[in-house]
Amino acid sequence: MGLFSRLLGRPGAQADKKFAWLEKERAHIEALSREYDSTTDAEFPAAASAAFERDSRREQLVHYAALVTVAAERTLGERPFTTQITGLIGLLEGQIVQMLTGEGKTLVGAMAAAGYALQGRRVHVVSVNDYLAERDESWMRPLFELLGVASAAITEALPDAERRTSYDNEVVYGSVQEIGFDVLRDRFVLEDSALRVGERDVVIVDEADSVLIDEARVPLVLAGSTTVEAADEQIAALVEGLDEGQDYEISPDRKAVSLTDAGADRVESLMDVDLFGADTATLAAINLALYAKALVTRDVDYLVVDGRIKLISDSRGRVAALQRWPDGLQAAVEAKEHLETSASGEIMDQMTVEELIHGYRTVCGMTGTAVAVGDDLREFYELEILVVEPHEPMIRQDLADRLYTYQESKERAIVEEVVEQHAGGRPVLVGTRSVAESESLAGRLRDRGIDAAVLNAKDDSHEAQVIAAAGRRGAVTVSTQMAGRGTDILLDEDDAVRSQGLLVIGAGRYTSSRLDDQLRGRAGRQGDPGESVFFTSLEDELLTRVPEAARFKEEGDETGFIANRRAAQLVEHAQRMAEGENTANHRDTWKFNELMAKQRQLVLARREGIRKSGAGQGELLESLKPETRGKIDGARRDHGEEVVEAALRDVLLFELDERWVEHLAYLNDLREGIHLRTLAHERPHEAFNKESIAAFAGFWPDVLETSSQVLDDATITAEGIDLAAHGLKRPSSTWTYIAADSAFGSDIETVVNRIRSKVK
Ligand code: ADP
Ligand code: MG
Repeated sequence: MGLFSRLLGRPGAQADKKFAWLEKERAHIEALSREYDSTTDAEFPAAASAAFERDSRREQLVHYAALVTVAAERTLGERPFTTQITGLIGLLEGQIVQMLTGEGKTLVGAMAAAGYALQGRRVHVVSVNDYLAERDESWMRPLFELLGVASAAITEALPDAERRTSYDNEVVYGSVQEIGFDVLRDRFVLEDSALRVGERDVVIVDEADSVLIDEARVPLVLAGSTTVEAADEQIAALVEGLDEGQDYEISPDRKAVSLTDAGADRVESLMDVDLFGADTATLAAINLALYAKALVTRDVDYLVVDGRIKLISDSRGRVAALQRWPDGLQAAVEAKEHLETSASGEIMDQMTVEELIHGYRTVCGMTGTAVAVGDDLREFYELEILVVEPHEPMIRQDLADRLYTYQESKERAIVEEVVEQHAGGRPVLVGTRSVAESESLAGRLRDRGIDAAVLNAKDDSHEAQVIAAAGRRGAVTVSTQMAGRGTDILLDEDDAVRSQGLLVIGAGRYTSSRLDDQLRGRAGRQGDPGESVFFTSLEDELLTRVPEAARFKEEGDETGFIANRRAAQLVEHAQRMAEGENTANHRDTWKFNELMAKQRQLVLARREGIRKSGAGQGELLESLKPETRGKIDGARRDHGEEVVEAALRDVLLFELDERWVEHLAYLNDLREGIHLRTLAHERPHEAFNKESIAAFAGFWPDVLETSSQVLDDATITAEGIDLAAHGLKRPSSTWTYIAADSAFGSDIETVVNRIRSKVK
């Protein structure tokens, strides 16, 4: 059998031919790698760069493949399999590479990242979460170092200053939301030096189907608050100016913070108070403010949503490191965030994951399950798939589904199966569709004397440990879909375990066959034995969508088992329907987002022009009243051309950002209502486009008009223009979140689309 599989559909068919040359070069790569064996560590960076200076593209790839083979073996102790070299070439040629779970995609991604970097490109490797970003980058760092490529990982906890320098590395690992949030924050910079991410060049997406398809529509949001309470500002500003080590100290366990003697003196003289005498209340306030400043971090420990502090585990889909705060801290953090008087924050900018990815010049990625979304990848990203066969044949047995009448009978049957298999010490992994189902199953297992490890998407690093142990003798693990993704399940060396392998039980099919395959893929890695089986019930959400399913309720035996094969086919049918609906929703959402994305790009381009080359100033001057223009001419004579130009630029930037916030709010409102307004008449996205294009036509004229109003009132001094004095304040705080349930969520669309299809 050749290295490339026959393909299940059109996607990737071209990829096959495109890479056929590689087979002919295998021996050559092998021979070259023996030559590179004698390259010393010190010579490696130069040799690596030289590989990409060869004349033909094919020569470059062949030499790099040979060289990186040696580098991986020397630094990581893993000599890449031929399958991994195939994957590497696929990534370097901008494809989505399909390789099964456990085939070593981390190494493939790293070799490709280094390969791009050696060609002078800047690379982001997108992981599913912070834990994996950090793990993969530190795991692969010796390889990068030998090749002379600088790497870093970005996580939520990384402070802003380090974040900026981290992005200067050639290869940066990070989760899609962390990088996305930084792109949003970049949106409002006034100076180039403040940019975090800058240009988006190459992105290598791990678990590509999850990021590019499942999370594509998720909006990443940057919000801000402009309202500031004067009293809060005084304490906050004072504490803000204190320095760690000098003015205050943090205890080694990072649980307490206190003023030093020098710090206390400084506060006393700045505020003119006697902290340890008459003003102990002030001391308490200072201590709390210090705690809020030094030990509680925005977007790490809490979010600010609608002008209120929210612990991260709340409704926005992000997880809290810290579940509860000491008394009084909540108030101190509110003071730190100036939230007492601010009714609500505004959305300053937002962008979907899809838009983020579209901003890269080159997109590639890897996943175990790409073919099933081949059409979507082509439609939404113009990406092709290269299917790489496993390096050891896959021998896992995928058993036929077992269908039950009720959820209750299904859960009982699952428990019976686990009990039976567990008796011989076989490791069992049960994949559930929800936290509630996990807990119910774990409870039933406990009643039968089995203590299952339960995972439900809370803590990524803890999860990784548990899932890594899921292949041990006697292990029973109950997990929701995403939990532990990216972590390898190694089988115990125990003979009985090695001969049977891991049993994977799905407690119900997911709405996409890809997710089922991800779960099955937990067993049978790298040629291991293993089995997978799904239990479904007529009460599963998927089956309740198919009206015919109800007819089979009568056919269950005394355990609720339904033997009828036709009933089993319903599951496949329901899944195909759900997949079709999902693609339709994605297409629909993209139609809305596409226009917003375009308008956003236009605004950003204009902003760059204003910021860098003084664009818009001529138009602004022309739109001024004669007296205002006279005033500006006067300022030009008094303070010089540069001062006036900077002032005009500041006003334009401020007003442009303000208008964008307003326009976004308008679009969000429009979007929310559009389905209902157009129920029986126009197509929603056409109505949306028409109205939003009309609104956008006034965008720039509005910026000019409000800017000229500002100039009517303002005075330009030698220091420029004091916008804050005119009530024009940039947000005192910003925060980011993932809007899982915003107007941009698909729920309302799904519901309304269902109504529509019935109306027609
Ligand atoms: P994937 O992301 O494809 O599921 P991983 O990158 O997590 O797989 O790798 C799975 C396991 O295979 C890891 O334990 C890794 O160390 C091992 N591995 C990867 N490549 C090789 C190799 N060339 N030789 C030996 N072990 C390897
Ligand atoms: Mg992986």
